[in-house]
Amino acid sequence: SQRALIIGASHAGAQLAASLRQEGWSGEIVLIGDESAAPYQRPPLSKAYLAGKRVLDEITIRSADFYSKQRIQLLDAHVEAIDRSAGHIVLSTGETLTYDKLALCTGARPRQLRVPGAELAGVHYLRTAADVEMIRTSATPGRRVVIVGGGYIGLETAASLRALDLEVTVLEATTRVLERVTAPDVSTFFERIHREEGVDIRTNARVDALTGDRTVREVTLDSGESIPADLIIVGIGVEPNTDLADAAGLVVDNGVVIDDHARTEDPDIVAAGDCTSHDMARYGRRIRMESVSSAGEQAKVAASTVCGKSRKIAALPWFWSDQYDLKLQIAGLNTGYDEVVFSGDPTRDRDFSCFYLRGGKLIAADCINRPRDFMFSKRAIMQQLPVDRAELMLGGLARS
Ligand code: FAD
Repeated sequence: SQRALIIGASHAGAQLAASLRQEGWSGEIVLIGDESAAPYQRPPLSKAYLAGKRVLDEITIRSADFYSKQRIQLLDAHVEAIDRSAGHIVLSTGETLTYDKLALCTGARPRQLRVPGAELAGVHYLRTAADVEMIRTSATPGRRVVIVGGGYIGLETAASLRALDLEVTVLEATTRVLERVTAPDVSTFFERIHREEGVDIRTNARVDALTGDRTVREVTLDSGESIPADLIIVGIGVEPNTDLADAAGLVVDNGVVIDDHARTEDPDIVAAGDCTSHDMARYGRRIRMESVSSAGEQAKVAASTVCGKSRKIAALPWFWSDQYDLKLQIAGLNTGYDEVVFSGDPTRDRDFSCFYLRGGKLIAADCINRPRDFMFSKRAIMQQLPVDRAELMLGGLARS
């Protein structure tokens, strides 16, 4: 029978395997991952899992049962190479596995902090459950943690570690947290909330060096100031895992380049998730998405492509973040917005929405504790519904 191999057993890989069966693939499916755990959800890692409110068994993507019933073989291995002319992959054990169809779902890895002292013990990254296990052994109450990076991961980690009673400092190199992704007033809102929760948030704070004797003790900033630290968590973005694709001669440009059907230029190879870069007609440019929703959408499309159907990647990207009692939900990408409209007051409230418009049309929304605004925004953006600023401010359309 035919064999489909999937490299990377996380959100994209697990969905692709499940979707292959749904789409009618009757041959073998081998889902290969190198984390020695059944596929689990990554978002809780910086949220409930770090805060100790969930164990690994509670955040798996599917039950163990599911894989056996669906005849999906989970293989704990690291893939070293793809040989396209031979139609096989090479595992780190030297073993080879042939494929008829291959899917790349290799995801991303944390960008490394490149300063003197970055290799000291006590310097952590947060991408895998194993990373969190390490952080949790040293994250005991009263200890001082310095988080490098004021993006979603940095801020979620700050909130989770405050819940564990650590002293938390967040260093953001630019002028504001979430600079890459939100409007200035939304950044100001998150800075206010974190300060109210006891986090020392510092912007324009660039790390020059980490010092310590084997274990990190201090962070030095380029201003000359130093901050004592018992542990450091670095959250300064990710880089796509494209080495395999690159070495196999596939086109890579900030991610494995895929078309609307999740195809690479090799007819037998599809790709999905954080490792891909996709030309999105909606945004008029190639984008590498980093979200569970995009990984899922691309994986479903990739599976249908493998089964000879012709579905296209079309769903609106969306994202979420949990910090303290705040549930942030984001619909769409705000790239190129020329106007923002607020419903609620971000300088005072703990619930509001920030609507992003371009040429009078809604293109994205950040909704904080406003699930109905989020639902409405997704629909309005997808269907290009006309929006009325006054009604947006009242959150009125969300009720219609
Ligand atoms: P990944 O999850 O990166 O998985 C790739 C897998 O492939 C990994 O297990 C890797 O070890 C394995 N692999 C790579 N190379 C090989 C190889 N050669 N051989 C074998 N295995 C290999 N997204 C949201 O939408 N909402 C959130 O709230 C959110 N929170 C997040 C919080 C944290 C702490 C992190 C780290 C991410 C968060 N994300 C969130 C992003 C989301 O987790 C990613 O978009 C998603 O995991 C992408 O899935 P993926 O399968 O493409 O890649």
